[in-house]
Amino acid sequence: MKFKSKLPYIEGHIFSYMSGLANQYNAINLSQGFPNFEPAQELKDLVARCLAENTSQYAPMPGLPALREEIARKALKCFGISVNPDSEVTIGCGATEMIFTAIAAFVWPGDEVIIIEPGYDCYRPSIDVAGGKVVVYKMKAPEFKINWQEFANYITPKTLMICISSPNNPTGSLMNKEDMDALAGLVKGTDIIILSDEVYEHMVFDGAVHQSPLIYPELRERTISVFSFGKTLHITGWRIGYAIAPQQLTNELRKVHQNTVFSASHPLQKAIALYLAQNDSYLNLPEFYQKKRDVFLQAMGKTRLIPLQCRGSYFQLFDYSAISDEGDFAFCERLVKEYGVAAIPVSRMYSDRHDDRLIRFCFAKTDDVLISAAERLDKL
Ligand code: GLN
Repeated sequence: MKFKSKLPYIEGHIFSYMSGLANQYNAINLSQGFPNFEPAQELKDLVARCLAENTSQYAPMPGLPALREEIARKALKCFGISVNPDSEVTIGCGATEMIFTAIAAFVWPGDEVIIIEPGYDCYRPSIDVAGGKVVVYKMKAPEFKINWQEFANYITPKTLMICISSPNNPTGSLMNKEDMDALAGLVKGTDIIILSDEVYEHMVFDGAVHQSPLIYPELRERTISVFSFGKTLHITGWRIGYAIAPQQLTNELRKVHQNTVFSASHPLQKAIALYLAQNDSYLNLPEFYQKKRDVFLQAMGKTRLIPLQCRGSYFQLFDYSAISDEGDFAFCERLVKEYGVAAIPVSRMYSDRHDDRLIRFCFAKTDDVLISAAERLDKL
C-alpha cells in the first residue's frame, strides 16, 4: 500500500517505551508520569454506584451538565473567575484529546503554531496532522524561563496559536504573573489563540500560586485552557479531561470533539461530578506532592545526580553530566538495565533531541518506592 505518513518521525512513545522496559527488567518505574497509588475509595465506590444508575448510554456531547457545573464551581473557587458551564466547558477523553481537538478545530494548513520546548510531546503531532507549521521556542537549562523579548521574534502575521504549559512537564518550571502580562502584551490586538495546558495546576510548591491565563481578562477572551482529572484525582487511566474557553471558541472545539469521540464516559463523569460536589481534597495536592518531592530529594541527596529546581508538576529533573558522557537515551536505558530504575530522557521532549544530559523522574509514588529508587541510584 502506498501512502504518505503524516507523522513519519513517530517511532513509538517514549513514555510507553520506558514503562515497558521497566516492566521487562523489573525496575522501579519513575519514567511515565502516573501515580502508583489508588484514587480515593469514595470515588471508586461512586463509580460502582453510577454504573448501577442508568449511565450506560451516551453522555451529552459537551459533557454531563452536573460535571460541567462542578467544573465552573471549581474555576470560581480556584481562579475567582465566572465560567458558564453550558457554553464554556467541554469534557473530553483526557487532556490529550482536548489538546488535539483544540488544534484540529482551529489550525489550517500553513498556519504557524508556536510551541515551547522542552514540553509534553503531543503538541507537534497534532499540529502536523492539521497541516500547520510548528515553530519551536526553546527554553534553556537550568532555569527554563521564557525570554519574552526573544519570544516576540517568533510571532509573525501567520501565527495562529501559541501553546503554553505551566507547570511545565518535564522541567517543573512555572509561568508567573510577569510571564502572563508579557504574553498578554504580545498578543494584544491580534487574533492569536492561546492553548494553555494546565494539567499540573494543583502541583505548585514552596508557596507558589498557579497562574492560569484564564485569570487575565485580556488572555481569557482568546484562551482554551485544558485540565485533567487524571492528574487531579489520581485517575490517569480513566481518561477524563476538560477545556474551558469562551463560547465562540468552545463552539468550534465541540464540532471536532463531536466527530472524534462524541462524548466521554458517562458513568465516570457522573461519579466525578458527585465526588466533587462533596469533596475538594484536591486543594491539598500542593502540600501532598511537595512532601513527595522533598522525600525524594532528600533520599537522592546521597547520589551523584544533581537536582534542578522543581517548582511544580510531579516531575524532578536531574543532571548526570558528572557521571557520564553518554546521551540521555542511552543513559536511561542503562539505568533500567543495570540499576533497576526507569527515567525519561529529556531530549525526547525536544523535537530536535537537544541533549543537556538531563533525566526526568516522576515522584507521584509512595515514599517507600521513592526511597528504594534513590538507594538503587546511590550505586551509580
Ligand atoms: N503525561 C505523562 C508523562 O509525561 C504521560 C502521559 C502518557 O503516557 N500518555 O509522563
